[in-house]
Amino acid sequence: MSVRVRFAPSPTGSLHIGGARTALFNWLFARKENGKFILRVEDTDTQRYIAEAAAGIERTLRWLGLDWDEGPVAGGPKGPYRQSERLELYRQEAKRLLDAGLAYPCYCTPDELAQMREEARQSGRAPRYDGRCRHLDEAARKAKEAAGLKPVLRIKAPAEGSTVVRDLIRGEVTFDNSTLDDFIIMKSNGIATYNFACVVDDHGMGITHVLRAEEHLSNTPKQLVIYNALGYPPPQFAHVPMILAPDRSKLSKRHGATAVEEFREQGYLAPAIVNYLALLGWSPGADKEIMSREEMVSLFSLEAINKSAAIYDVRKLTWL
Ligand code: GLU
Repeated sequence: MSVRVRFAPSPTGSLHIGGARTALFNWLFARKENGKFILRVEDTDTQRYIAEAAAGIERTLRWLGLDWDEGPVAGGPKGPYRQSERLELYRQEAKRLLDAGLAYPCYCTPDELAQMREEARQSGRAPRYDGRCRHLDEAARKAKEAAGLKPVLRIKAPAEGSTVVRDLIRGEVTFDNSTLDDFIIMKSNGIATYNFACVVDDHGMGITHVLRAEEHLSNTPKQLVIYNALGYPPPQFAHVPMILAPDRSKLSKRHGATAVEEFREQGYLAPAIVNYLALLGWSPGADKEIMSREEMVSLFSLEAINKSAAIYDVRKLTWL
């Protein structure tokens, strides 16, 4: 099976070092394996969406030379795919789960949810949706609708046992299912949540390897619940360790430029940035400090991605 990977940015700002490194690792893996690299803009969250950001991310990827391979129309222009153009597909798949009794409408109000959280806090439990709308009958649902309540859609998640994520970088990571609850897959405005749209798309686009930032590792058991409910075989997962500041704190503005555009404006050349990003968390071995693009492609492997966090040190960035 040929490799298909994707970079799936949310257009909430400019492309930062972390996102650019994720894009680069996906691109290198696709090129190494003669696979396909797909760009998917995750723009369903209209509240966080910044109109200019998607164009800016595409521009930066082009400048870095990370070209993508296909678009939403077969034989048409190359992408990106945009989730905002695929809302109907998510609705169809959500309806399938609803009809199969694997998801249900939830009418709980913010006050009820706050009360649930408070009760959990008082009894020292982790806050968790208690599943009360699972058991509403048709008449109760109708009454809620008549009262003007707009439901979200929740998926039925297992409460017992555990979910194992087999990660190509981290190995087996076990999540206790008691940390999952019946989480939301469609919001009350009919828009799919990140986890749901991501799974429908990763499956629909034939993604074989989900290579993304470690911050998403905790989403993976939820996504496995969705794969299972929809009857899709899951892809392989590889979560890339974080990038930390030299003092091992969370990387932020005070550690210098972190947006790729800023480096471009300062006059750095794209190959220098790409070379620097490649070495943030990947050890090609054999004292490879400076590599051509072809060299990077031929040396790249998921096995050589480091298991511990990478340290970001802008002083190591050369002008070459
Ligand atoms: N839109 C998500 C992000 O930007 C993508 C996560 C993923 O790759 O699944 O963090």
